[in-house]
Amino acid sequence: MASKQLHVALLASPGMGHLVPIFLLGHNLVTHHSLRVTILAVTATTTHSLTQLLTSFTTTTNLSIIQIPAPDVSSVLPTDAKVITQLCVMMRETIPAIRTTISSMNPRPHVLVGDIFSTESWQVAEEFGIPKYVFVTSSAWFTAFFIYSLVLDKQVVGQYVDQKEPFEIPGCKPVRPEDVVDPMPNRYDEAYSLYLDQAIGVTLADGLLINTWEDLEPQTLDALRNNESLGRKPVYTVGPVCKRCEPDMLQHEVVKWLDEKPDRSVVYVSFGSGGLISLEEIHELAWGLEMSRQRFVWVVRPPVEHDPDSLFFKYGQFDGPCDYLPQGFLSRTKKVGFVVPSWAPQVEILNHVSVGGFVTHCGWNSVPESITSGLPMIVWPLYAEQRMNATMLTEELKVAVRPEVLPTKKVVGREEIKRMVVDLMEGERGNAMKTEMNRLKEGAKKAISENGSSYLSIFKFIEDCWSRIQ
Ligand code: UDP
Repeated sequence: MASKQLHVALLASPGMGHLVPIFLLGHNLVTHHSLRVTILAVTATTTHSLTQLLTSFTTTTNLSIIQIPAPDVSSVLPTDAKVITQLCVMMRETIPAIRTTISSMNPRPHVLVGDIFSTESWQVAEEFGIPKYVFVTSSAWFTAFFIYSLVLDKQVVGQYVDQKEPFEIPGCKPVRPEDVVDPMPNRYDEAYSLYLDQAIGVTLADGLLINTWEDLEPQTLDALRNNESLGRKPVYTVGPVCKRCEPDMLQHEVVKWLDEKPDRSVVYVSFGSGGLISLEEIHELAWGLEMSRQRFVWVVRPPVEHDPDSLFFKYGQFDGPCDYLPQGFLSRTKKVGFVVPSWAPQVEILNHVSVGGFVTHCGWNSVPESITSGLPMIVWPLYAEQRMNATMLTEELKVAVRPEVLPTKKVVGREEIKRMVVDLMEGERGNAMKTEMNRLKEGAKKAISENGSSYLSIFKFIEDCWSRIQ
């Protein structure tokens, strides 16, 4: 058995938020644990960032990538279908292609690991007689809440967001009604029942790999492992699964701009791979940054048009940032600010010594990236489970500040933005958060180092896989 090499198929649904951590997990399994990995990447569109991601992993020995084009599901979906509906239907329609792909693989995988949108493919794993594991690319707290949604669905009467009391999750921090995960805010939308189907899929997995680490969420991990109503599945902490700096990216002009700036003097602003805000919000943010008199790097995208829930960017008709930023903003802030349209080398920016803080939408790739760079945050949650992430960062971990009212409820004004940015970069609160963040950073580093908790957890996963296969 010792000489046999475990072959893991990692199945990723479309979207950089899932693809990136799946690729990184695959890379980690190959390079640090000597496994063979085949990534089955279901892709819907070919963007520059996707091409970059695919090419950056093609030369890794023992890591193969099979791209499976997602079928066009537009004819079976209503035009206003939510992201989760689009993804679930796409993944469902891809099952025959996944089956064909796995059956033609030589050698066949011993195990299937899929993200939370992939759980309908458990049927394929069962047909091939291989164990199936879910990789949750978010926190343990989200995982617990997700699974417990199946209980809440039976208990809660009316809309979740209209409830007065937080939702108690056994052994975990309660979740406030306003923080519930999309698509829970409207339980009458079709996306909600798909969300529950996914939660059932998670409970049917043989185990859970989670992009977290023991030190970060000890209490919640304990609850997940021991509480019947949370599935009581084997839980493997594999995080932080994070991108590393790439030498090529260090040549990017924004990195060169940062090279000239004093240590810890720049705030980085980005809303992930697809986060969009309105024209009014862009203007308030621009004014807030300018009024703060702090240096900044801002990844700007054209304002969202009508559908903030679109899976892919739905830009308005703009020729460039000048069209939607306040008049004169770019020239007035030329010396202190750097505006990057659409996409920036985020990890290289976060790890740059000149950067001292991060305004983030709290996607669970950006959060570990910020922690491993030791950067305190201003949280600006937009969708998915980001409101929970924001609450965890501000109230539990105390490494972030947040606007008084959720940005999804009310436009954050320029004065408040200015105050938060100054606080983050210069204030006492910023210093306290930095100290706390450095503690988390050390914990994260330790978890993935040799014999750290995540390193050992992957060994346990491999051992458990073998025992299921024998
Ligand atoms: N990202 C990047 N450049 C950008 C925007 C995003 O490299 O301009 C990367 C970021 O480093 C992270 C991922 O894209 O790894 C975004 O994932 P996250 O979970 O933070 O947000 P999502 O895109 O899923 O909403």
